[in-house]
Amino acid sequence: MAKTVTLIEGDGIGPEVTLAAKRIVEATGVKIEWEVCEAGAKVFKQGLATGVPQETIDSIKRTKVALKGPLETPVGYGEKSANVTLRALFETYANTRPIRQIPGIHTPYSGRNIDFVVVRENVEDLYAGIEYLQTPSVAEGLKLITRKGSEKIIRFAFELARAEGRKKVHCATKANILKLTEGLFKKTFEEVSLDYPDIEALHIIIDNCAHQMVLRPEVFDVIVTTNLHGDIISDLGSGLVGGLGVAPAANIGDEISIFEAVHGSAPKYTGLNVINPSALIFSSVLMLRHLEEFEAAHLIEQSLLYTLGVEKAFLRDLDKTSTLTTTAYTDIVIKNLGKQTDFWAPRHYKPLHIAHIKDPDDNVPRKDVGIDVYIESLLSPEVLGKSLEDISSATPFTLKMISNRGVQVYPLLEGVKPDTVDQWRARFFLRDSQKPMADSDVFNLVAKIGQTHKWMHLEKLFEFNGSPSFTKAQGES
Ligand code: NAD
Repeated sequence: MAKTVTLIEGDGIGPEVTLAAKRIVEATGVKIEWEVCEAGAKVFKQGLATGVPQETIDSIKRTKVALKGPLETPVGYGEKSANVTLRALFETYANTRPIRQIPGIHTPYSGRNIDFVVVRENVEDLYAGIEYLQTPSVAEGLKLITRKGSEKIIRFAFELARAEGRKKVHCATKANILKLTEGLFKKTFEEVSLDYPDIEALHIIIDNCAHQMVLRPEVFDVIVTTNLHGDIISDLGSGLVGGLGVAPAANIGDEISIFEAVHGSAPKYTGLNVINPSALIFSSVLMLRHLEEFEAAHLIEQSLLYTLGVEKAFLRDLDKTSTLTTTAYTDIVIKNLGKQTDFWAPRHYKPLHIAHIKDPDDNVPRKDVGIDVYIESLLSPEVLGKSLEDISSATPFTLKMISNRGVQVYPLLEGVKPDTVDQWRARFFLRDSQKPMADSDVFNLVAKIGQTHKWMHLEKLFEFNGSPSFTKAQGES
């Protein structure tokens, strides 16, 4: 029976790369019905602020798989890009980028046997986009890491390793500095890895990971990481093996998956029939494996390797003197279907198992500790500190400390000369640590602070399972 796939041609060079990929997929004989849908610049210009029409959303919901050309957000239209809308709508939480040396493409790493996958968490972290101007001159962005989101992507990385016969997974974090957010990701990795004794599980600090990717990229097999780190190291990975013209990506969710090239719409090449469609063709290989069409995927992959590695048919991005057109290149890849190479060690792909993760446990023992109140003020730390001590003196709270840009500034540590800004965090602890914190006491304290100072944010402090739910300021005892 034919499988149905939503095809979004996209903007700029999108129609050229999607046409090439579609022709090659069809030439393998695999039975795919395409639902051609719109998204991107044209849709924004028709006045739809999301850039993704309802028909496209309905099609993807129906087919569960989309092959997508690059999408543009034209200047002056829409607040969010159509790509971000698609990612958010369909919760495609796993962004995977295979990084593999491609024969015929000379790089400083040629011959080093680079072959790994970057698995990037795709919806959380700073990309959840929760940002505030807390004062006119202080911006705050929330780095949101959840146990559930971390477990989903980490299990995905181990399952991907199993499906591709890979042997180790590195978890790359900044848990040494960001103890609660990145620390939660690392802790989840350590717990989940116990369910995969057949796969070696290693933790690496993200900056060292970037360093090792440049020095010894051949040591990696699968790297799983949080969103922002993943954004950066996946581009670093693409650079190691030949750049944008050949870099594919898959965005996978529990139900829906979207396959695309890493590159954008390269508008200056639109319609010139000169761009390299290989990235989207490699993406269609990932899509076919996802559809469990392993034979068709293998045929296309081998044909590309033969076309690049043996025939050395290069487009202009790889050989400036080339006069080859995108259409002629596509014809060559079709002609080479069935050709075999030994550039890449054979890999026995198996269907990918996507684990379903339970919702968090609501019964974690917790204890109230106090509150952090964020205040806008131009006072000195000393004056602000004394004022907050006075204000809290007749309440169940005592001022523990004040920090500015993460450093304790009240009481001032000896030898520290802070360069302060107008955003302060005042930390109040309950005087009687055995008593629960009544909301009325919190509101009372905040109301009193509000009579003298501008406050803009309140955060409750707890202990969960005996561990603090907050980090200390630099210098806080
Ligand atoms: P880009 O990837 O479109 O182009 C950068 C340069 O890379 C091009 O000028 C070209 O020299 C080269 N290039 C890219 N793809 C190529 C190919 N297939 N063959 C040959 N050369 C290629 O990046 P950009 O110029 O920053 O972005 C252009 C537009 O694309 C923007 O509107 C951006 O928002 C959008 N974009 C979309 C996606 C997506 O849909 N996933 C990704 C990135 C950028």
